[in-house]
Amino acid sequence: MSSGVSTGQSSPEPGPQPGAPARLDLFRDLGLSRTPQPSYSQLLQQLRQGKVKDLVLSPSQRQVGVTYADGSRVQVPVFSNDQVLLRTAQAARVPLTVRDDRQDQATASLLANGLLLLLLLGGLALLIRRSSQVANRTLGFGRSKARMVQPEAAVAVRFEDVAGIAEAKEELQEVVTFLKQPERFTAVGAKIPKGVLLVGPPGTGKTLLAKAIAGEAGVPFFSMAASEFVELFVGVGASRVRDLFRQAKEKAPCIVFIDEIDAVGRQRGAGIGGGNDEREQTLNQLLTEMDGFAENSGVILLAATNRPDVLDTALMRPGRFDRRITVDLPDRRGREAILAVHARSRPLDPEVCLADWASRTPGFSGADLSNLLNEAAILTARRERDCIDESALNDALERITMGLTAAPLQDSAKKRLIAYHEIGHALITTLLPAADRLDKVTLLPRAGGVGGFARTMPDEEVLDSGLISKAYLQARMVVAMGGRAAELVVFGPSEITQGASGDLELVSRIGREMVTRYGFSRLGPQAFEAEGAEVFLGRDWLRSDPAYSQETGNRIDAQVQHLARTALDQAVALLTPRRPLIDALVEALIEQETIEGPAFSAIVERYEDQPLASAKADPASAEPDVEAAQVGL
Ligand code: ADP
Repeated sequence: MSSGVSTGQSSPEPGPQPGAPARLDLFRDLGLSRTPQPSYSQLLQQLRQGKVKDLVLSPSQRQVGVTYADGSRVQVPVFSNDQVLLRTAQAARVPLTVRDDRQDQATASLLANGLLLLLLLGGLALLIRRSSQVANRTLGFGRSKARMVQPEAAVAVRFEDVAGIAEAKEELQEVVTFLKQPERFTAVGAKIPKGVLLVGPPGTGKTLLAKAIAGEAGVPFFSMAASEFVELFVGVGASRVRDLFRQAKEKAPCIVFIDEIDAVGRQRGAGIGGGNDEREQTLNQLLTEMDGFAENSGVILLAATNRPDVLDTALMRPGRFDRRITVDLPDRRGREAILAVHARSRPLDPEVCLADWASRTPGFSGADLSNLLNEAAILTARRERDCIDESALNDALERITMGLTAAPLQDSAKKRLIAYHEIGHALITTLLPAADRLDKVTLLPRAGGVGGFARTMPDEEVLDSGLISKAYLQARMVVAMGGRAAELVVFGPSEITQGASGDLELVSRIGREMVTRYGFSRLGPQAFEAEGAEVFLGRDWLRSDPAYSQETGNRIDAQVQHLARTALDQAVALLTPRRPLIDALVEALIEQETIEGPAFSAIVERYEDQPLASAKADPASAEPDVEAAQVGL
């Protein structure tokens, strides 16, 4: 039975073969036996021949390890529970060991299981970490996003960097002293204010002022826009407020600056639905926190807004934002000082006169002025010049006020029409004594469909005094109607264009304000609307009815219409007798593309044959006064 059975591949007898490759010898030299594996029957035969020294049986692996008399070893596959091998070994008196490899197996499986467990644990840990990161991000919503600037490191802004708002600076100087020497105030029992509200139009330097205080006092500066408090989830705003105050208290003394506080500080209970909403919760938290921090804790809250009228009154009561500092648009001297601050870091051509530029930029905020110099610097770099000159500033101003230049107009009919329209505005502003001064009139188009424009400069004194006369507003309406009037006079009533739509809007707005707010009409000295009436949208949305009767509303409309019509009639009356002058000016404008104010006045003076001061027509003489007119009341 044994001879024919073979479980392995048949191979030659073990032991050295005459032609065996040298590699085998090498193995033997190294003591690593490479005896060829005998077949099962050969093994039995070798056992009987006494060639085998001992056997080690591994039942679970179904193989036996054979050690020959010469010391070489092989593994031979056997049957499981192999009785033949056992008996043959017994007969040949070859020692046979049965290896218990259950232990090996146990160790191996233990190892494998351990490895699996480790893998599982690793995976689990990774999962937990990932989800905790997500959770952190979610829960981190509640953390404040305030940007903090450390004292020594950054707040490099000083009061000298803030120009043109001397009163505000003076008031805030006190806050610096509070921060630097609180004992001076506490010694005499004074309480350091907790909150200061900076009120003013955008870009007037409110943030800059807050930074300057932190810079001067050398304390950390936290800044955050109020809109950042409020997010998608209810309760986030409140927790952000808490977090902001926690951080601030840790770093006291410090400045916390909240920009656009009106985003959360609006009157509570306002808006659609009465609003117990996220914004209100945030505001409540803000109020609570302000009450919560101890007197003289060294945290001073500064907040900025340009809508103080919509703020909740609870924010303003003593102990909260009890100080209110107005930061207004700068006057001419202020603008000059701001320009000087921003010119410090830029090379200016000695020819440039900042005082002139301050006069040419009425109504500009600090941010606008800084932008003007920056645009001029960019143009200077583009032109590869070394210093900012007049022409760069001129172009920058035009770019800011009128937008980017567009390709010049080719179509001569359209160009001519625009020229008449613009000359209409320019001529009337030159003729009317109460009107603004003409800065320039140009046919160079601007991006956004502006074919040309006549730019005027308000009178410095009027602007700085903040007082606007009825004559001035009337003159502005007549100037605005100048374009439409020129089209009427030159091309006739059926050829007028929609180019005057912007002018008409302006006229309607001025007219409405004159009637409803300033008492400049036959309706008498009465205000029918308050300033910024749309503010009430947020407060009294549901009470949108005007505070006057339907009949008064009709009379207001009639007055506004009358003012507009009178303005147009005056403009037509001024232009009609000057048709040859208009034609001459249009020719000059088409040829030169731009005429500066003084050159324009010179042409007009020559035509009028007398100095403009006396030649300037009186709008009242062209048409009866508005008040005297009968408008079907
Ligand atoms: P606000 O907070 O009032 O909207 P910012 O303080 O942010 O205005 O002003 C924006 C930028 O305008 C400032 O960084 C600064 O360069 C410039 N600026 C504004 N006001 C002044 C000023 N009074 N003096 C100097 N620079 C100013």
